Amino acid sequence: MKTTEIYEYLERISNLLRTDIRKGGISLGLQPVQLEALNYLYRCNRYSNSPVAVAEFLGLTKGTVSQTLAVLENSGLIEKHPDQKDRRVVHLELTDAGRRVVAECIPPKVLRQAAGELSGMDQEALLQALTAMLTALQHANRLRSFGVCKNCRHHALRADGSRHCRLTGEDLSELDSGKICREHDSPPTVPSTGG
Ligand code: SF4
Repeated sequence: MKTTEIYEYLERISNLLRTDIRKGGISLGLQPVQLEALNYLYRCNRYSNSPVAVAEFLGLTKGTVSQTLAVLENSGLIEKHPDQKDRRVVHLELTDAGRRVVAECIPPKVLRQAAGELSGMDQEALLQALTAMLTALQHANRLRSFGVCKNCRHHALRADGSRHCRLTGEDLSELDSGKICREHDSPPTVPSTGG
């Protein structure tokens, strides 16, 4: 088992990335948690852009998230929109200024540089290993996966190439299919037949 080495590498990498993100955020007057919330709202779909989903994704209390969202709203980086069907539900959407901040700060420059030095194959292998690690951690902690829509068991492709969600019954666009979702559920793994 290489658990200690894996932990040390992940911790070191996280610290380096957080330092770089902090620098980028501070130059724009934002704390790291505010940038993380902004980035989540940039990447998530319309079923996942609520305050409670932000709290779940970041692993924070509703109180902390509510303060964070208030700062983002007061800074003109996000806007609240009531749901068309249920006015009690609020959707949080990035403004153009919010999208510009995410594009500038995330991924942090130091990661863009380091990842650019890896071959395509190494990037793919790293991505697969990190995905497996994150999934295992989420299962162990009984957390939602917040996976990408097109990899969800409810995602369906019609014969004409259009997409829809079997859970909500709503149509999905190509853009929707690349976003992360609070309701994401991984397809069952096919048991190996061995050999
Ligand atoms: S298909 Fe899955 S991930 Fe996509 S919107 Fe439906 S529940 Fe969410």
